[in-house]
Amino acid sequence: MSEMIVATKKGLYCEKGDFYIDPWRPVARAVITHAHSDHARIGSNSYLCAAPGVGILKHRLGENISVDAVEYGERKSINGVDVSLHPAGHILGSSQVRVEYQGEVWVVSGDYKIQADPTCDAFEPIQCHTFITESTFGLPVYSWPEDREVFESINNWWSKNKEAGKSSLLLCYSLGKAQRILKGIDPSIGPIFTHGAIEALNQVYRYSIGLPHTQHVPLTKQASNQYSGALILAPPAVLGSAWIRRFGTVSTAFASGWMRIRGMKRRYAVDRGFILSDHADWPALLSTIEATGASKVLVTHGYTDILVRYLRECGKDAHTMSTNFQGETEETVVEEQLRVEFAALSQDSAQQDDESATKLQHSNPDETQSIDEEGSEQLSLLLELNGESADTSDTVPDAEKDEEQE
Ligand SMILES: [Zn+2]
Ligand SMILES: [Zn+2]
Repeated sequence: MSEMIVATKKGLYCEKGDFYIDPWRPVARAVITHAHSDHARIGSNSYLCAAPGVGILKHRLGENISVDAVEYGERKSINGVDVSLHPAGHILGSSQVRVEYQGEVWVVSGDYKIQADPTCDAFEPIQCHTFITESTFGLPVYSWPEDREVFESINNWWSKNKEAGKSSLLLCYSLGKAQRILKGIDPSIGPIFTHGAIEALNQVYRYSIGLPHTQHVPLTKQASNQYSGALILAPPAVLGSAWIRRFGTVSTAFASGWMRIRGMKRRYAVDRGFILSDHADWPALLSTIEATGASKVLVTHGYTDILVRYLRECGKDAHTMSTNFQGETEETVVEEQLRVEFAALSQDSAQQDDESATKLQHSNPDETQSIDEEGSEQLSLLLELNGESADTSDTVPDAEKDEEQE
């Protein structure tokens, strides 16, 4: 079977249809899965995206881009190739791209999650022969708690801070995560303030999604007691900056899939970590791959090696596909840095325990060697090592547990 979509210098390319999917360089025709900056870049002549995502794409790339919107599921022929977009459940307007030519079907997942998210259409598994999947959280240690539990924890944290006269600074990514949090929390607890980067996107979301009332944090640097009892949403980049001094006595938290790892929370020096991700966790990656019925799986950004090796062990024809995709927007800086740090952390422990496990991480993902018994032992060792780093203490740090007992 020929390769219908290949990774080129400019991005994922469909030669038959002469278009790119989420190109990282300017091209004539770009099909866009979603507006995070590692997937949607300026400079292309024309863009195609799902109708609910047009507003965000224009907000990110400029009002005057040439963009063609299609409804989810609507088929469009591009040079004889059938193209349709289907909900990816990642952020508002996010899509999987289904490409069909002469009966052969490929699907590019973009970023996706299967958990319910009231800010976007729910993920739909699409039957295909070849599935190109992300693997941002492609390690068994990453499995997400129920959203409801996470939002309850956030509400409790906020309420307690309010009782103690503190403000609550919750770090989260500006596009998608912030709006999902606003939809999930209880706005009756107190006032909600947002960083400018988040407020600008809230305005775009409000054209299609109802969000609770929020106030933009004013530009003045003066500390003020107006934030006492308030929830403040800001991108992670503000941590350690002068911007947060205005909030007085503040409790800090970070909402991210990376908070599943105890070391990450400590490294960030935040008081609380809430495990909330807009990407598929390990069980969701596996169940989704199964649900597509794909006989061939190509794995892009994230823990590609691990997922590819696991899938091969399960008898799948799986390969790494190298792309320029990363975490997401601010995540490109923050999450990518965390990913690198975590890789280093697990390498350290792997080296202490068994050098072969480290070798596994470094080996060339493209090589087609079959996994022998030794390889599979190495894999389970590595998965175990990563499992040991998991934060199993829920999200309540010891200090706060003590408080709760009082
Ligand atoms: Zn991505
Ligand atoms: Zn994304």
